[in-house]
Amino acid sequence: MTTEFDITQYQIAEQPYYQAQNNEITLYEAAYNARLPVMIKGPTGCGKSRFVEHMAWKLNKPLITVACNEDMTASDLVGRYLLDANGTRWVDGPLTLAARYGAICYLDEVVEARQDTTVVIHPLTDHRRTLPLDKKGELVVAHPDFQLVISYNPGYQSLMKDLKQSTKQRFAAMEFDYPLCSVETEIVSKEANISTDIADKLVRIAETARKLKGHGLDEGISTRLLVYAAALINGGIPARDACRMALVRPITDDKDIRDTLDHAIDAIF
Ligand code: ADP
Repeated sequence: MTTEFDITQYQIAEQPYYQAQNNEITLYEAAYNARLPVMIKGPTGCGKSRFVEHMAWKLNKPLITVACNEDMTASDLVGRYLLDANGTRWVDGPLTLAARYGAICYLDEVVEARQDTTVVIHPLTDHRRTLPLDKKGELVVAHPDFQLVISYNPGYQSLMKDLKQSTKQRFAAMEFDYPLCSVETEIVSKEANISTDIADKLVRIAETARKLKGHGLDEGISTRLLVYAAALINGGIPARDACRMALVRPITDDKDIRDTLDHAIDAIF
């Protein structure tokens, strides 16, 4: 027996601030209207999750987000029997809840999860729109509002850890990247409530670092880290210290790269 579940707790009450970079809002709306599963590709901290939150709010649909990790199993997504005082009881996992009650299910960094988890999403992503709960002996037919969204950072992928073509080709994909300088300046300024002058300087530091990707850096400085630096500056920390703490130390352990970026900071602030 399934007890009635209140899906409205996953409804997003307030509009999440999202600065569009292109026509991604229109594209996503069209994909949602056709109930296509969507894959959002791009480096970490470039606005993928914020975008999905914004879209869930705009479409007025509940959003269930799952941060995937390497220990995650199919049961973590689908659900499991739990033992309590009255015996065993089935508890739906986040994917089942979303499918059953009509939410957008966002699997963040899906490649991190074990292969068996990608297999369970397959029947949900084609014309069947079903989710078999093998252990429970139930076939959940997805609610008409249900949509599956996954995020994926192509930068991290190795041969060992990549989505299979059979999984990739079940999704429409949108490619995200760090915003254009002027847009990113606006985002940092609005998000952290800081002057555009400081935001612009932070973005310029990020630009320098992003050029080092593949030349000693695995990944450039994200928009998220720029917002962190701005928050520290807002808290009264001198800009040079804030930038070292939020922009440089998190992304590298290499002394040469660190010195290069520290010099870039000193040249700008
Ligand atoms: P991702 O999911 O790509 O790792 P997030 O969506 O969590 O990254 O973005 C990180 C932070 O960057 C957000 O919390 C927000 O402060 C900021 N951000 C990035 N892009 C945008 C955008 N286009 N509009 C508003 N905020 C943004």
